[in-house]
Amino acid sequence: MKRLLAIFAHPDDEGAVAGTLAYYARQGVHVALICATKGEAGEISDPSLATPENLGEVREAELRCACQVIGIAELHLLGYCDSGMDGTPENEKITAFIQADPEEIRFKLVKLIREIKPHVVITFEPNGWYGHPDHIATGRYASEAYYLASDPEAFPEAGPIWQLDRLFHSAFPLSRFKVMVDYAREHGIDISTFDSVPMEGPDPIEEQITHNVDVRAYLDAKLASTRCHQTQFGEDSLFRQIPPEIHQASMGDETFIQVDPQPELSSSPVTDLFSGIEG
Ligand SMILES: [Zn+2]
Repeated sequence: MKRLLAIFAHPDDEGAVAGTLAYYARQGVHVALICATKGEAGEISDPSLATPENLGEVREAELRCACQVIGIAELHLLGYCDSGMDGTPENEKITAFIQADPEEIRFKLVKLIREIKPHVVITFEPNGWYGHPDHIATGRYASEAYYLASDPEAFPEAGPIWQLDRLFHSAFPLSRFKVMVDYAREHGIDISTFDSVPMEGPDPIEEQITHNVDVRAYLDAKLASTRCHQTQFGEDSLFRQIPPEIHQASMGDETFIQVDPQPELSSSPVTDLFSGIEG
């Protein structure tokens, strides 16, 4: 059986690749997700849904809802706290993910990888989509754990080694993002969260993309999974307001950078993350 493992930082990050995860789950692939935190520093779209004190608990339940919708068979939480956006007081909290002991994080990830035995791992690209410190840290640790899992010298107490086949970074090209942002600006939808994202100039991500998964047939599952994350995507959120054609244009494909093994240069992106893998 083929197995796919996604490693992300917060409940709702999985949404960026939800179409791909839903597609593989429906092909009979065992899909697992590791989430580093419960997203305690996230939004509360409606005060009747959560308080700052119980937001982590509420978001865990939202994530379990999304897993069910997407077809994620196995969810593991690493148990750290959301470090918040760069420059916020949450960065300094002793329980914050970015303050945690790096060796402890690597051990937990290696142990889970050796238990789950995935063929393919997906995590953040080095800039964490838009620079969130938890995204950057998760991408770095997950990529390290990918290599350490097959190293007999590394963490022998974390179980027998497992040789993975392929590591991907999830990449969201600016051109797709811009489709959403342009629509939001034209229609007066608040997108101040993304104010720091540069919308012009060359996009280094776009040219690194090696894989493009067409998920238009799974957009319904993808959108249904975002509706599970009610505290993050309330009625006023961008995702809830954009029409189907904008969803298609901005989210109908999910794109990836193959990091290991180094891919052969190809003129057009490959469409299957498992191509050539027997499972
Ligand atoms: Zn996140």
